[in-house]
Amino acid sequence: MASEGRPSDSDKGSLAAINELFDEPVRPRGRNRGLISSSAIGLANRGRVLQVLFDLGPTSRAELARHVGVNRATISGIVQPLIDQGILVENDPLPSKESGGKPARPMWFAQDAAPICAVLLMHDSVQCCLVSLDGTITAEAKAAFPPDAASVGTLAETIYASIGQTLKHAHRPPLGIGVAAGGMIDTDNGSIVAVNLAPLLAGFPLGAELTRRFGLTTRVDHHPRALLVGDRWFGIGRGKRNFAVIYTGEVLGGALFLDGHLYRGPAGAGGELGHTFVQVDGGVCRCGRRGCWETIATLGWLRREAEIAGLPSAGALDSRQLVTLAEEGAAGAVDLLDRYARNVAIGIANLQQTMAPNFIVLHGDVVGGGPRLLDAIAVHVRELVPWRPGGDIELVMGDLEDRAALKGAAGLVLSELLHFTL
Ligand SMILES: [Zn+2]
Repeated sequence: MASEGRPSDSDKGSLAAINELFDEPVRPRGRNRGLISSSAIGLANRGRVLQVLFDLGPTSRAELARHVGVNRATISGIVQPLIDQGILVENDPLPSKESGGKPARPMWFAQDAAPICAVLLMHDSVQCCLVSLDGTITAEAKAAFPPDAASVGTLAETIYASIGQTLKHAHRPPLGIGVAAGGMIDTDNGSIVAVNLAPLLAGFPLGAELTRRFGLTTRVDHHPRALLVGDRWFGIGRGKRNFAVIYTGEVLGGALFLDGHLYRGPAGAGGELGHTFVQVDGGVCRCGRRGCWETIATLGWLRREAEIAGLPSAGALDSRQLVTLAEEGAAGAVDLLDRYARNVAIGIANLQQTMAPNFIVLHGDVVGGGPRLLDAIAVHVRELVPWRPGGDIELVMGDLEDRAALKGAAGLVLSELLHFTL
């Protein structure tokens, strides 16, 4: 088990090529800065070009050149070695535009380049997959933690076995392991600080253990931040300068992308949005304090209120079922839907007032509520936030299935290897 995921001797040539590509000191200092001087075009410029490519999605050489602000020959000098090494691939030409000219061939990351192992660690389960550089997910596997686990060792064995199984499917040596974990994460050392729903995991040095066991670069971050990275690299947040992610379900969390950077705070302590206070002396939260946003905008609240309202199957209700009940005209469902939407909106309004992300991506259970719930939340947010210059507030749905978290976990490794600033 300990050697699983490590390259075999026959793989070492390709791994060396990848390392040569990724381990260079590419350190762009910010997306708004132009390329460094022409005499120093090279490693840093390559990182900058790849970052722009990720921001734009599949892009032709000419278009990429225009966005980076250099000529096409310079772009070709940077991307051709990456194409030759199988990192990038140029797809079939698009039909010529009416104006004529050379047909554009959109360039993107090759699906068969070395993958990244992505792990989603929640309080009751571990989910693993391989993510290719173009964001394709394969070799998915999910394992539940034994409900009677008495030690962190039992949980750790489940995690190792799941990752080991996934790594067996890698056709090339993986570039690293990215972990999105529920609970509070110390991102400086990749350890789990606390998980309210899984106390056994508290203090577990997950990053160090995975690196030791599998011999791969490992990055661990908070689940909502991984969602944000997934949206930023591979999804709806691509190319944005400011946006926020909110996740709701059994727990509530969030993450911020501000002025072109993921905001973590010291050791990753920032972004504990679920435990910001929305009710003075409100209900007791799992964290032990009172009145946290999490106490009024998660499934626990929804199910208790559904019980009081006498809705069917209240104990297992979720946003999707609530919207269905509201559309069927079930007594109390419309009222509960609106109150739930307002509770979710209150925390978003606080966030908007504090940081003005303007673009907010919702993930988790609320996504199941579809456009009706999204609209209801948006109406309340707009009522709660006074008009300010700087653009409208836009709320959008992310994914329900945590695909963004897995892609984001891979993105954590990708940004590390490419030396991009997240
Ligand atoms: Zn709390």
